[in-house]
Amino acid sequence: MSFNIDQIRGLFPVLHQEVHGKPLIYFDNAATTQKPKAVLKALQEYYEKDNSNIHRGAHALADRATRHYEETREAVRDFIGAREAAEIIFTKGTTESINLVAKTFGRNFIGKGDEILISTMEHHSNIVPWQMVCEEKGAILKVIPITESGEIIWEEFEILLSSKTRLVSIVHASNALGTINPVKKIIDAAHAVGAKVLLDGAQSTSHLDIDVLDLNCDFLAFSTHKLYGPTGLGVLYGKREVLEEMPPFLGGGEMIKEVTFEKTTYNEIPFKFEAGTPNIADVIAFKAALDFVQSLTKPKIRAHEDALLDHANELMSGIKGFIPVGTASEKVSVLSFNINGMHPFDVGQMLDAKGIAVRTGHHCTQPLMKRFGIEGTVRASFAVYNTKSEIEKLAEGVAQIARLKN
Ligand code: PLP
Repeated sequence: MSFNIDQIRGLFPVLHQEVHGKPLIYFDNAATTQKPKAVLKALQEYYEKDNSNIHRGAHALADRATRHYEETREAVRDFIGAREAAEIIFTKGTTESINLVAKTFGRNFIGKGDEILISTMEHHSNIVPWQMVCEEKGAILKVIPITESGEIIWEEFEILLSSKTRLVSIVHASNALGTINPVKKIIDAAHAVGAKVLLDGAQSTSHLDIDVLDLNCDFLAFSTHKLYGPTGLGVLYGKREVLEEMPPFLGGGEMIKEVTFEKTTYNEIPFKFEAGTPNIADVIAFKAALDFVQSLTKPKIRAHEDALLDHANELMSGIKGFIPVGTASEKVSVLSFNINGMHPFDVGQMLDAKGIAVRTGHHCTQPLMKRFGIEGTVRASFAVYNTKSEIEKLAEGVAQIARLKN
């Protein structure tokens, strides 16, 4: 598909509605993206034609459902450049993917006095699971500080990294600031001291080309709902040799080879980590989302989104009272800001009245907000279907709101 914005918008039914009597402008894409028709169609077709449990049925529907489910696994492998489909595990989302690693790798390979390194800009889902591991195992959580512009301080990272570091778990692109972290450099440095690296790819996978072999990360976690796919589904990529050494996460059907009351042996990866009936319909439908993204290509998507972000920065920086939060040189299309003298929630409500959907608050990054000495921000995050004229309406709206107090 060529990059024709009208054609792209035509694929997203939800965009074509009014909110409070105004055409909807959807700028809450970092929270969740909208879904193209092909995803909705795939969901409906699955339930109309193929609905069946997978991997163990001896009938045509089960065969078809299994084939389509495994086709998505292969499509994800291709999407992130993994070596083999067995390294792709389906979970409920980024949160569950990180918890899976915490509860398995964390339990087996992190001990008393060991250190886990995260950054100041982590989402709560990349903080709390590690705090739980530390509490259980007597390990220590260390936090890489960041600059005023929202970038990790490399020298501090180098000081914190040591032979005690077992894992560096870091966000690839920040949901609250948009900062893209220098993950390849981080991974190389972590490996040099023998630490493994988990990348939280919740925000990066929809904007950046991802090649896990080139990055050489040990784990990558992401959610399909932020990538034009269904909610309630996520992916954990792990290197085969690491996944094989990890104990299972949940126990039950699918994840076993043989069960007796005396002893159970476990299935091979990825099934060892997919206990119970998985989210079949959403996995199958996610392939349509990947096909959509692949048809446009990531570089073209990124170029479009970068142009939107540049346009927004240009228009908004001239608004009296506009305070940007997160001004890193490398960013995905997230614009976080405050208006002098106003609460972010009030700004969000006023924008909503104009039909503009943004997110306000701490964005599940309370320690990051504390670092900046603020309660929260207004966040406008852009996706492939957003337009320059929508950005202009946002800037107009923000300017009107800012004038109330500035
Ligand atoms: N990590 C980051 C950077 C995120 O932006 C999010 C969601 O906003 C998550 C993790 C958690 O994702 P989910 O709620 O889909 O599990």
